[in-house]
Amino acid sequence: MAEAKKAEVKKAEAKKAEAKAPKKIDAYKQPAKFCSKCGARMGDHKDRFACGKCGYTEWKQSKPNAGQANKGGA
Ligand SMILES: [Zn+2]
Repeated sequence: MAEAKKAEVKKAEAKKAEAKAPKKIDAYKQPAKFCSKCGARMGDHKDRFACGKCGYTEWKQSKPNAGQANKGGA
Protein backbone atom coordinates (compact mmCIF):
# COMPACT_ATOMS: atom_id res chain seq x y z
CA MET A 1 0.00 0.00 0.00
CA ALA A 2 1.29 3.43 0.80
CA GLU A 3 4.26 1.93 2.51
CA ALA A 4 5.09 -0.23 -0.41
CA LYS A 5 4.96 2.76 -2.69
CA LYS A 6 7.25 4.66 -0.40
CA ALA A 7 9.76 1.87 -0.47
CA GLU A 8 9.58 1.80 -4.22
CA VAL A 9 10.26 5.49 -4.44
CA LYS A 10 13.14 5.09 -2.08
CA LYS A 11 14.55 2.37 -4.27
CA ALA A 12 14.21 4.49 -7.34
CA GLU A 13 15.93 7.38 -5.62
CA ALA A 14 18.76 5.17 -4.52
CA LYS A 15 19.16 3.94 -8.05
CA LYS A 16 19.28 7.50 -9.29
CA ALA A 17 21.88 8.46 -6.73
CA GLU A 18 23.94 5.45 -7.64
CA ALA A 19 23.88 6.38 -11.29
CA LYS A 20 24.85 9.91 -10.43
CA ALA A 21 27.73 9.11 -8.14
CA PRO A 22 30.97 8.14 -9.78
CA LYS A 23 31.68 4.50 -9.22
CA LYS A 24 35.39 4.77 -9.62
CA ILE A 25 37.21 6.02 -6.60
CA ASP A 26 40.84 6.90 -6.79
CA ALA A 27 42.19 5.30 -3.67
CA TYR A 28 45.51 7.03 -4.02
CA LYS A 29 43.89 10.41 -4.34
CA GLN A 30 43.43 12.16 -1.06
CA PRO A 31 40.46 14.38 -0.48
CA ALA A 32 41.01 18.03 -1.07
CA LYS A 33 42.29 19.98 1.85
CA PHE A 34 40.79 23.34 2.57
CA CYS A 35 42.46 26.19 4.36
CA SER A 36 41.29 26.47 7.93
CA LYS A 37 41.89 30.20 7.74
CA CYS A 38 40.26 31.39 4.57
CA GLY A 39 38.58 28.23 3.30
CA ALA A 40 40.34 28.17 -0.03
CA ARG A 41 41.47 24.90 -1.48
CA MET A 42 45.02 24.23 -0.44
CA GLY A 43 47.82 23.10 -2.69
CA ASP A 44 48.87 19.54 -2.07
CA HIS A 45 52.62 19.34 -1.68
CA LYS A 46 54.80 16.42 -0.83
CA ASP A 47 55.01 17.17 2.85
CA ARG A 48 52.56 19.96 3.39
CA PHE A 49 49.42 21.72 2.29
CA ALA A 50 49.82 25.31 1.30
CA CYS A 51 47.14 27.89 0.83
CA GLY A 52 47.87 30.09 -2.14
CA LYS A 53 45.35 32.62 -1.00
CA CYS A 54 46.52 33.54 2.47
CA GLY A 55 49.78 31.66 2.65
CA TYR A 56 48.75 29.35 5.44
CA THR A 57 50.77 26.16 5.57
CA GLU A 58 49.74 22.95 7.18
CA TRP A 59 52.27 20.17 7.53
CA LYS A 60 51.12 16.69 6.72
CA GLN A 61 53.20 15.28 9.54
CA SER A 62 53.96 17.00 12.78
CA LYS A 63 57.53 18.14 12.57
CA PRO A 64 59.76 17.69 15.59
CA ASN A 65 60.93 21.27 15.40
CA ALA A 66 57.79 22.94 14.18
CA GLY A 67 57.41 24.87 17.38
CA GLN A 68 59.10 27.88 15.87
CA ALA A 69 57.17 27.69 12.66
CA ASN A 70 55.18 30.72 11.71
CA LYS A 71 51.69 29.73 12.58
CA GLY A 72 50.31 33.10 11.71
CA GLY A 73 49.03 33.66 15.18
CA ALA A 74 47.96 37.11 16.32
ZN1 LIG B 1 44.05 30.38 3.25
